[in-house]
Formats: sequence, C-alpha cells, structure tokens
Amino acid sequence: MNKQENNQKGGLINMAAFLARSEVNGPGLRAVVWVQGCPRRCAGCFNQDMLEFRDNKIITVKQLADRILAIQGLAGVSFSGGEPFAQALPLAQLAETLTQQGLNIVIFTGYTYTELKAGNDPAWNRLLAAVDLLVAGPFMQELPTQEYLLGSANQELLFLTDRLKNHPAIGNHSETTVEVTIDTTGTVNITGLSNKIDLPLPPAREPRTAR
Ligand code: SF4
Repeated sequence: MNKQENNQKGGLINMAAFLARSEVNGPGLRAVVWVQGCPRRCAGCFNQDMLEFRDNKIITVKQLADRILAIQGLAGVSFSGGEPFAQALPLAQLAETLTQQGLNIVIFTGYTYTELKAGNDPAWNRLLAAVDLLVAGPFMQELPTQEYLLGSANQELLFLTDRLKNHPAIGNHSETTVEVTIDTTGTVNITGLSNKIDLPLPPAREPRTAR
C-alpha cells in the first residue's frame, strides 16, 4: 500500500520505536508508540531521529493492536513521535481497537488543539474522538517547566474525556519523569522528560524523551 492509499484507508503505521511498559509517558502503566515523521522542527527537539518522513518500522494496525493487547497489566497506550497526527487515520483505527478493550489513550502532539480543530481534517477528528488526554503544542526550549507531562510551559494538557481527569498522577509534580531501561540485547532506552534532570545521559538508541 502506498502512502496516499494509507492516508485514505489507514491500516499501516510507520513506527519509530515501541516500549511495552512505561510509567513516564502518561498516567499509569502504558505502552508507548513513537511514530516516524514530524512536519515541525522545534529547536531542541530530543527525538531528532524521528523527524524525517521515511519508512522505518512498518506495522499493520492489527499487528500492533495484538502486540499491545498481549501485554499484561496495561492501563493505556501513549502515541508520541514524530507527529502522531501525521498518521492520524491508522492511529485512530488503533486507538479505537484499544479503547474497545478498555485501554485509555494519551497523545503527545506538536500541534495546538486550536490548530487541530481548525484543520477540520476527518482523520484528525477521528483520532481526536479516540483520545482521552492530549498533550498539545510545539516544544519551546526557552519555556522550561516542571509541570506533569509537559516539555515546555506553552504546552497544554487537554482532557477530551473524563477517563483520566482524576488519575492520581495528574498534577503530581513528584511523579517520576525519566526511565532508563536496558533490554536483553544491552540496548539502553531512556524515555521521559530528560530536560528536567541535570545528569549526563548515555547515548540512547531508542527515544530519550516524550517531547
Ligand atoms: S518536539 Fe515534537 S513537534 Fe517539535 S519537532 Fe520534535 S517531535 Fe516534532
């Protein structure tokens, strides 16, 4: 399926990275899907490898849904990147499948909510309809913040459903914000908001930060 067909029909996700279990990319235990490709170029973006629109890990919506649903104990899934709304239709299909199975959805996007609504794009609207919590807005390194899940102070937490509004992690500034994991191959994965710590970080092959 070519890119134009995928935009119209969905079915394929161009993934940059996947983490089965994380507690720093949204409330509760979550899988995280980082997508490949972002139209923005925020100065200081931590996920430079994910900006270019190129084929990376191509996976069908069903394969990824099955992979996520096989993980025990998840509360939800987060989509980050890269720009999730650049792959809105297949991610909406994935989100709909996952929410039907009781998982909640968090999306980190570089678009503001106003931009997403003004776009009036059917795929964007379908993805918005499947999201519980949207972390919205471009990363601005000149506006540092310690707020939960935010990379910079201009960004917003938008609860598009009531599912996560009262989660104990929301507004808890003492929540862990960085995770370091080492997988069975010895690959070091660092995720979370690494701009909030002063420690030097080792080279990472997988995503260092949500945004
Ligand atoms: S911070 Fe987010 S929106 Fe900005 S360039 Fe990086 S991935 Fe794109």
